[in-house]
Amino acid sequence: MEGHKTSGEKKSPSTKRAGAYPASHEVDETTVKWESLRTSEERLRTLIQTLPDAVVFKDATGRWMEANELAQQTFSIQDTRYMGLDTLHLAELSAAYRGSAHHCNDTDEQAWSAGKSIRFEQVIEEPNRSPRIFDVIKVPVFHDDGNRRGIVIIGRDITDSKASERMLSDSELRYRSLVQYHPDAVLTLDLYGNFLSINPAFERISGYCPQDLIGKSCVSMVIPGCWHSTRKYFTFTLRGEPVTYETSIRHQGGRVIQLRVTNIPMRVDGKIVGVYGICKDITEQKRAQEQIHRMAFYDSLTGLPNRSYLNKYMSELVLQDPQRNFSLIFIDLDDFKQMNDTFGHSEGDALLKLVAQCLEEVKRRRDLVVRWAGDEFLILVHDVSSTREVKAFSLSVLEALRKPFTVSGQQFYISASIGISMYPDDGEDAETLLRSGDTALQLAKKQGKNMVEVYKPSFHRMTSRNLQVGNALRTAVANGELNLHYQPKYNPYNGCVTGLEALLRWRSPTLGVIDPNEFIPLAEDTGMIVPIGQYVLQTACAQVKSWTDAGYGKVHVAVNISVRQIQQPDFVEMVQSVLDRTGLEASRLELEITESLLLRAEQGLSVLTALRSVGVKISFDDFGTGYSSLRYLQDVPIQAVKIDKSFVDQITTERGYAIVAAIIGLAQSLQLTVVAEGVETIQQVEVLKNLKCDEIQGFYYSRPIPSEQVAMLFIASTQKTS
Ligand code: C2E
Ligand code: CA
Ligand code: CA
Repeated sequence: MEGHKTSGEKKSPSTKRAGAYPASHEVDETTVKWESLRTSEERLRTLIQTLPDAVVFKDATGRWMEANELAQQTFSIQDTRYMGLDTLHLAELSAAYRGSAHHCNDTDEQAWSAGKSIRFEQVIEEPNRSPRIFDVIKVPVFHDDGNRRGIVIIGRDITDSKASERMLSDSELRYRSLVQYHPDAVLTLDLYGNFLSINPAFERISGYCPQDLIGKSCVSMVIPGCWHSTRKYFTFTLRGEPVTYETSIRHQGGRVIQLRVTNIPMRVDGKIVGVYGICKDITEQKRAQEQIHRMAFYDSLTGLPNRSYLNKYMSELVLQDPQRNFSLIFIDLDDFKQMNDTFGHSEGDALLKLVAQCLEEVKRRRDLVVRWAGDEFLILVHDVSSTREVKAFSLSVLEALRKPFTVSGQQFYISASIGISMYPDDGEDAETLLRSGDTALQLAKKQGKNMVEVYKPSFHRMTSRNLQVGNALRTAVANGELNLHYQPKYNPYNGCVTGLEALLRWRSPTLGVIDPNEFIPLAEDTGMIVPIGQYVLQTACAQVKSWTDAGYGKVHVAVNISVRQIQQPDFVEMVQSVLDRTGLEASRLELEITESLLLRAEQGLSVLTALRSVGVKISFDDFGTGYSSLRYLQDVPIQAVKIDKSFVDQITTERGYAIVAAIIGLAQSLQLTVVAEGVETIQQVEVLKNLKCDEIQGFYYSRPIPSEQVAMLFIASTQKTS
């Protein structure tokens, strides 16, 4: 039973220690024993004082016998005479001890009854101080007879290490839940790139469970194309640098998954022991990006790169090597618009796709085919030094396009015009180079179909003129700036006028007189030829009717018709209504068309047939210059051919003569009237007469004349015949 009072006197630990043992001055055996005993006790004291643990000795009844400074501090009893006090007495004096007194007694008893040392953790709480945790060992000491002798208590303050241990396990837990629930895939790899762990997100992304992967090399799931880079970045990380890159793996189900991976070196005690990989599935994102890229840089119809792509491509090309030579070939399909209007847009689209395919086939491997606009394509040809070389290539492109294209079972024949610009001569930047190429193209088109034109600086002036003329033309009909001249055709055998050809004239108030060879092609390209052509037909029919009514005999008039007009679905009705309105007999009207109309397949033929049934005459203008072979002639409902001026010009040469002779022979065998146009000399007239040419037109007889002079012409002509 612990119940002793402390001695009232306060003692410092040292005095207390000194006073605890009797001193002796006798030098005898006993003294020596005492001395040695004392020294060993002193040693022991010193030892327990310097121990980092709190040490308390209690006697068999639980009374405190000795406590080192640390133990005293622990219970705040440095200033208390604790010696001889039992647990409960001491608890009255020490607030720190009070809370644990019972526990102390209990654990003392446990040690006694265990008969050997016990170890446990004890929390010591004291008001106004944070609780401390002790690792306590209690060692019971017994007499030889087994009676209790005393108990040694050693306590080590483990509060701090406990806290850091807890912190460690807390952070471990936090790390685990972070990895576990992270939406990104997290994995750990050893130094050889073998999986150590994967989180559920990685299981989801890859379709594999940890058992499938742990211990296996991560490279085994990467697709072969990414092996090299993935290994490179892994090694990079092992040098201590985090790195982010993209790679692709194969999902357990076989499909490819694109990942953005961040590798972070895994360090333990400053040494790299592995790699953390944080992966994001970017497959969808990549797909969307690709789609956006496709939409922005590729044409959806043909799949070819588009304008934006070309611009980007060229800027990069020029940036990489400003010294390199390349060339742009602009390709524009002739009359594609009409074809589209006539056959419908889906046929037009199908044809464009075939053209794209054809261009992909003719280009060289490194060259780039681009869909520039509607029916305009462009080929960027690499490493060309001379325009001759590009021109030769362009001709092979035209040749390839000349083969028939089959759309919905129908054969289409197309032709194209080509404009060429060369880098760096025709433009040192993409924009200038493109403009030069386009200028060359516009010129090629103006010169007729199926032409190749290489850019020259003088072209630039011409196209700005085109714009001016085009703008002025827009208002020409409404402002009454257009009128007609008439060029007569003659019977060379009796000198009589057989008919008149209406030829359009335009005097613009701002630009002056403009040549039809300049503004007609422009009107055709822009579609303005449709209203203009209607004006010509209406005016010519009305004038001829008035001359007939005035008694000049049975006058015939020929009106030039562009292909574009014939492509109008209501063209035949329009002709019919003009005849109705003006009251001109259909047989007095002749329409001059070019044979290129026949290239528009059956459509052209059916319009001609319809016109025939209206009763108008049809003649082939500029005959011999088109592509249709002469054998077509028998299938076409025409009444006349006009031999082109270029053949008439050559008629005095052997070859030219042979050609004209052949044309006349053929035409006559088909009962067609043959007219020679552009006849300027008496020699030409003589040769044509020898060849039995039916009619002649040209400056030799008459230039085109204004309508006011037509009356005079008839008077002269009748005089001649009379
Ligand atoms: P085209 O139909 O072949 O008309 C003949 C052209 O040759 C006319 O030129 C005429 O003045 C010219 N010419 C006639 N005889 C001679 C000659 O002996 N020597 C020379 N050097 N030239 C001669 P123009 O009037 O300048 O017309 C040029 C072209 O413009 C026409 O060629 C035709 O394709 C087109 N054109 C003229 N008027 C119209 C029109 O009302 N509608 C349509 N669609 N085209 C027209
Ligand atoms: Ca004509
Ligand atoms: Ca002609």
